[in-house]
Amino acid sequence: MGKLLIVGTVAFDEIETPFGKTDKILGGAATFIGMAASQFNVDSAIISIVGDDIPQEYLDVLSNKNIDLSGLEIVKGGKTFYWKGKYHNDLNSRETLVTELNTLADFNPVVPENYKDADVVMLGNLHPMVQMSVIDQMAKRPKLIVLDTMNFWMDNALDDVLKVIKHIDVITINDEEARQLTGEYSLVKAAKKIQTMGPKYVVIKKGEHGALLFHKDNIFFAPALPLEEVFDPTGAGDTFAGGFTGYLATTDTISFDTMKTAVIHGSNLASFSVERFGTERMEVLERDEVNKRLHQFKALTQFDIELK
Ligand code: AMP
Repeated sequence: MGKLLIVGTVAFDEIETPFGKTDKILGGAATFIGMAASQFNVDSAIISIVGDDIPQEYLDVLSNKNIDLSGLEIVKGGKTFYWKGKYHNDLNSRETLVTELNTLADFNPVVPENYKDADVVMLGNLHPMVQMSVIDQMAKRPKLIVLDTMNFWMDNALDDVLKVIKHIDVITINDEEARQLTGEYSLVKAAKKIQTMGPKYVVIKKGEHGALLFHKDNIFFAPALPLEEVFDPTGAGDTFAGGFTGYLATTDTISFDTMKTAVIHGSNLASFSVERFGTERMEVLERDEVNKRLHQFKALTQFDIELK
């Protein structure tokens, strides 16, 4: 069984979409990554920090998915990271209304001893120096290091983002952020430029328009499954990353072909996550539903054409 180490936020999210709004609910990059990865036969652990205002039932949601929380620091009297976002009619664009780092502002991650030999490390969205510290603590170079980041960190700690991405194998990033990072409008040019910055593989997420995988001159595209009901896109990117890394933690080899499959698993799981607010859908997701939708995915993208 593969071992997946996840670092990222465990958060209070408050979300507004055209279909309704929530109070503070369970969110955070590591949360969505862990829930998605739990669909695979992997041992996974989350490293993160929260305040003791986090309800026990939120932590239970994660432990119920067999995610190891020994690397989750709970600060007495501390406040948990809080993010508030609003989606407009176009669910592809969102506005961040509030980001309160709280306990995350002084976070020194500690990798649990039994995860220092993890096969895959998923550096979820948080401060790039925290991501770097996790890499530094690994006893040996993992099979794969994947990093996700967002505009908040490029705006506030760009030099550190550039430092950490030198050490990773794969970056997952959304289209606007890829443009921001490189100054290139063309995503093909942006992906080429990012490959000179460190990661050999670049995954550009385009929300409801799918995801692109780049490696040298190879490009692969996976659509997002067209859904009748999209309720809340929050966490779709992280769910994608959880499916992507969860699958790769189970494979013997890392290649463009295994990554293509990983992109499909990531896209497939993300299609569930957006069907309800927050983690609601992922909490009850069953493996046979996941498999059934993989068939839909295959049918969506398969065609016969005679080529001369
Ligand atoms: P996604 O929709 O996949 O991009 O991720 C949404 C999640 O990211 C939410 O659950 C937030 O708690 C979390 N998040 C938002 N802003 C940040 C940030 N600056 N750093 C880390 N996590 C964040």
